[in-house]
Amino acid sequence: MAIAEGEWQVIKIDGHDYLSVENISKFYGLSAEVVPSGEKIQANTADHPLEFVSGSREAIINGARSWLCFPVIEQDGKFLVTRTDLAKTIEPLVRPHRVADLGNIQTVVLDPGHGGHDKGQLSRYGAEKDFALDVARKLRPLLQAKGLKVIMTREGDYFVPLEVRAQIANRAPNAIFVSIHFNSSGDDPNATGFEIFSFTPRGAPSTSDGNVAARAFNNQPGSSVDAQSMALSACIYHSLLGHLPEYDRGIKRARFAVLRLTKVPAVLIEGGFLTERGESKLISNKDWRAKLAGAIGIGIETYQALPVKKQPPMIVADYRRQAKSAPVDRSIPEATVKEVDASDPGIPEATVKEADASLLELVGRSALLAPPQPQMPTPAPTASLQSAPIVP
Ligand SMILES: [Zn+2]
Repeated sequence: MAIAEGEWQVIKIDGHDYLSVENISKFYGLSAEVVPSGEKIQANTADHPLEFVSGSREAIINGARSWLCFPVIEQDGKFLVTRTDLAKTIEPLVRPHRVADLGNIQTVVLDPGHGGHDKGQLSRYGAEKDFALDVARKLRPLLQAKGLKVIMTREGDYFVPLEVRAQIANRAPNAIFVSIHFNSSGDDPNATGFEIFSFTPRGAPSTSDGNVAARAFNNQPGSSVDAQSMALSACIYHSLLGHLPEYDRGIKRARFAVLRLTKVPAVLIEGGFLTERGESKLISNKDWRAKLAGAIGIGIETYQALPVKKQPPMIVADYRRQAKSAPVDRSIPEATVKEVDASDPGIPEATVKEADASLLELVGRSALLAPPQPQMPTPAPTASLQSAPIVP
């Protein structure tokens, strides 16, 4: 059966709600591909802004690896994504500029990980606590230059308890929280790359939990700002990948204490591996750390501008294109998205409003583990988000 544009067809399986990949693709006007179970996603997403793997939580959204809460399943030849992932993962990553209550961000709480007796991971060149503090110190003046107030959870080499770090963020009005860490792997000395975390949604497993039974996470609390945190993840992560050619490990979810205890939009950045030879050397280089700080700063600035610009922010491919044409210019161009694809006529505002009502309907009742819900009202058939497809 064909799905009309802008219409949601909820498919119920064992009391859980799913949407087909085809439906999601039509709604957003983004072409999607599903690769067979066990196959590696080719990170070249020029043809498909949305890529999924059957049976897996791994996905590519707008050119960046992103981890769903639940695997994509196949049923009757259709590939299905949970309603939770549509609402909590796909929507804020595809349209971070349309997340509700983005607010007027005035303060950035920078949280350099570890400190004092807690050295974090060590490499032959130094300790995570020192590298993280240095990145925060380099980032602070960049943000201040953009008119943002910056609060550091620590200014020197001392330990601050995790709950105090969160309290600092929760006391600051109109704030976001950005924790800076470097990674380590005990079992894979070759592991490399960037990753970013925000708090795991209610009732969902974290990315590292693997494909375990969803009911195990029934009682885990969520956050009232997880859409904002996901939008912040998207803005920072695309800038990171776009400015520095490290491996893309993805946008992930975790219940780290600093993410659990903060009430404001919060992310935790893992800026490369101290356990890998090449990356630990990069991290020890102050110029590379300055680049890392610059990329984080551009991501934060992009997030802050979302409610003003009301446009999709730059994605990894845009940053890379920009770097090629103007390698010294690190600022955000005025006409970000317009420049990206001149052939995209944009989405008429009236159309968006109408279609969003249908999405809100869906997102508002997105608790996957809630008792089975009555049939969704069918959205107006004219509601459509379909503009000209972004990719030919
Ligand atoms: Zn750490």
